[in-house]
Amino acid sequence: MSDEGRSSGDEVTTLKIYNTMTRKKEVFKPLTPGVVRIYTCGMTVYDYPHLGHARTYSNWDIVVRYLRYKGYDVIHVQNFTDVGHLTSDSDWGEDKIVKRAREKKVHPMELVDHYIKEYFAAMDALKIQRANIMPRATGHIAEMIELIKKLEQKGYTYETKSGVYFDVSKFPTYGKMSRMKIDEQQQSRVEHDPEKRHAADFALWIKAGPEHIMRWPSPWGWGYPGWHIECSAMSMKYLGETLDIHGGGTDHIALHHPNERAQSEAATGKQFVRYWMHSAFMTINKEKMSKSTGRFITAREAIERYGPNVVRFFLITAHYRTVVDFSEDIIIQARENYFKLMNTMESVRLYLQTQTIPQSDPTPSEYARTLQKNFEAAMNDDFNTPKALSVLYEYSNYLNKQLVLPPTKNQIHLKADYELFLKLANVLAIDPQPFDDVRKILEILVDLRAKARKEKNYELADKIRDQLKTMKVRIEDKPWGTIFIREHC
Ligand code: AMP
Ligand code: ZN
Repeated sequence: MSDEGRSSGDEVTTLKIYNTMTRKKEVFKPLTPGVVRIYTCGMTVYDYPHLGHARTYSNWDIVVRYLRYKGYDVIHVQNFTDVGHLTSDSDWGEDKIVKRAREKKVHPMELVDHYIKEYFAAMDALKIQRANIMPRATGHIAEMIELIKKLEQKGYTYETKSGVYFDVSKFPTYGKMSRMKIDEQQQSRVEHDPEKRHAADFALWIKAGPEHIMRWPSPWGWGYPGWHIECSAMSMKYLGETLDIHGGGTDHIALHHPNERAQSEAATGKQFVRYWMHSAFMTINKEKMSKSTGRFITAREAIERYGPNVVRFFLITAHYRTVVDFSEDIIIQARENYFKLMNTMESVRLYLQTQTIPQSDPTPSEYARTLQKNFEAAMNDDFNTPKALSVLYEYSNYLNKQLVLPPTKNQIHLKADYELFLKLANVLAIDPQPFDDVRKILEILVDLRAKARKEKNYELADKIRDQLKTMKVRIEDKPWGTIFIREHC
């Protein structure tokens, strides 16, 4: 059920989203009841995704999962920037992808393909669901040219020797999102063409000679699009002229999103975005993780070191608007909490598999439904994942308390309570351990150990236990059987 069907003014059941534009939490109301159109800025694919990227995309995934849980039909579009993102380390900006491709002596498209594959490998492992549509900028040059032409016709642009620029002085509310005056605002150092009218004007089209391998013909000569116009063209093509939610990192509040907004609204005359959401950085030693400075830990390294589920769990432990400083300690701490939840999941699963509960009732208990409401209240409060997690811990304790032998009528709701728990946990991308071939083999080993113990062959039982430990499998004997938790999965 969407919010539309719920009583208005009900603080707990109404989703509120912090809108960067107003700096306030606002009641969420999509343009079309029941449907949410969301666009999130994708990666510039010239390097491996790092944990900061994983964090941002994990945050958007949680937003989408929760909106779907609430019954909305969500259409999520997330692009790949495969051209037009200028470097900031040369006097005149140079396309980051073209530059890296030249260094690596490969075609830019080959470079991009490689890193898109890397992006999916990491994000799929982290259970970050793919957006419905994932357009590449290079596939939408025609749409960008059309958009620039429209802005030109409306008098928002001017041409110089280096490109076509958006004249910010023609868009009076330009500084509304960044809360900066136009005079205080400058595009990155790289866009300092002396013919520019104002430091805050930004490139829509960048002219380029034949040495620039990624270029296209346009009414303003050969060149390539500016980074900002890409997101406007791709989001409006697939989602229409007004988006419900637009997400990106907090680094986009100062320039990228004001630029997207200015050119989109100038072109259409309509509100571009209803709710602007910004995800806080992952830092390392208190400084932003960043590809360009080389100060980062790749998502792949983290997955190899801690296991994908632990990394993903770690990513949801902080609220999306709180900066997280990466350290081994906090991920290890998150890991222990994750294992506690896994312990409950395995324990209840095995209990239900081995025990017969008299008169099982398919509806969750009243207490479980209260916990569900608390979970929703946390998520309705601008997607407060740490609070929602604390409800899951409480729920986990409640389930564990019901695991007593022999089962009685007191546990009639256990199965339904457990199913509801799994549903809520899934909103936070926490799922039971995979049911795969490794699991089958581990089950055989655990059974063999139980048999050895029964036969008082402690030597063999201990050997199996030690072997499992070296394989990073924790086992725990419960009165209804032995459960195991894979530390690395
Ligand atoms: P980029 O590839 O740099 O264009 O970044 C793609 C997305 O990841 C953008 O929404 C950025 O804001 C976000 N991002 C980049 N670095 C970090 C970081 N250290 N922490 C969180 N998000 C980041
Ligand atoms: Zn963007």
